[in-house]
Amino acid sequence: MRAVFLLLGSLLFVGPVNAAEPAEPAANRAAAAEHGAKAGSVAAAIKEVTQPVKPPSVIKEAPMSGADRTLARDAAQREEELGVRLKASLARLEKANIAARQAAQRPRPVPRPRVVPAEPIAMVPHATHWDYEGENGPLRWGRINPAWSQCDSGQRQSPIDIRDGIRVDLEQIYFDYKPARFSVLDNGHTVQVNLGAGNTITVAGKMYELVQFHFHRPSEERINGRNFPMVAHLVHKDADGKLAVVAAMITEGAASPLVQTIWNNLPLEKNETTSPSMTIDVNQLLPVQREYYTYMGSITSPPCTEGVLWLVMKAPIQLSAPQMAIFARLYPMNARPIQIGSGRLIKESN
Ligand SMILES: [Zn+2]
Repeated sequence: MRAVFLLLGSLLFVGPVNAAEPAEPAANRAAAAEHGAKAGSVAAAIKEVTQPVKPPSVIKEAPMSGADRTLARDAAQREEELGVRLKASLARLEKANIAARQAAQRPRPVPRPRVVPAEPIAMVPHATHWDYEGENGPLRWGRINPAWSQCDSGQRQSPIDIRDGIRVDLEQIYFDYKPARFSVLDNGHTVQVNLGAGNTITVAGKMYELVQFHFHRPSEERINGRNFPMVAHLVHKDADGKLAVVAAMITEGAASPLVQTIWNNLPLEKNETTSPSMTIDVNQLLPVQREYYTYMGSITSPPCTEGVLWLVMKAPIQLSAPQMAIFARLYPMNARPIQIGSGRLIKESN
């Protein structure tokens, strides 16, 4: 009997362990080992219980009356019944133990590491705002946007102070401009006139098409240290996308009918374009004398791309004072500072 009660105590102790579902794989292993040990002791206990129960020694020791015998028989019968019930419940517990052990040994679904969606790579658009003064001024252009690094690191930047050129017989630039439709854009940095196809220059055997022209105040380039009140830049592009820029210096003098037509059609808002139904003849923006300086440089605003053929006319053109004042109202200062020459060769017409 004592063995039976000890066994019950042991099983009661096992119960809660089975009930607790370990959460971690390491805990699983420990729990499984423990279940194994407990299950072993249960099996041993069952074996013990199934041994024939010896009749109590007291029955042998003293002769019993009929009533005593009846009592003893009843007691033996109850004990036998108890043993049967215990066997049954032990068998149930054993079954439960085996199930628990199997459950512990069954590979648990390993909790998948929670996939934290990668932080979307910040598609922070690089700044594109630049200016001629202040915190977005020319000295910072190269750091505003990585694509503009040449503004800082380039060795062939424009504008330059044109001096000490070599005088040679420069081939004349062949201008093939004809009246063309145009549109006027105030792009926030200058007034720009865009042109349709058909206006070309040919220089050193290469043909470039005029794409647009625009103005700076004062002139960006200097000639022997001197700048001009304004300059017009006529931007051309060849079939490979290479640029050639003709610069026409501007002094105060006679009114320019061409520039007047452009001012007449200035858009009222920045970044808006007007496309009047008329034509302009860009020949009017060229000086009569066509001698020029030439050197390799860059565009003078971000991204400061190099490989630009510069053709700076020696003779200036003229705008009237009121025409200059109109541009000054819009852009009092839109000139990039002079860049270092870095030993570049400058050639000039004789
Ligand atoms: Zn320009």
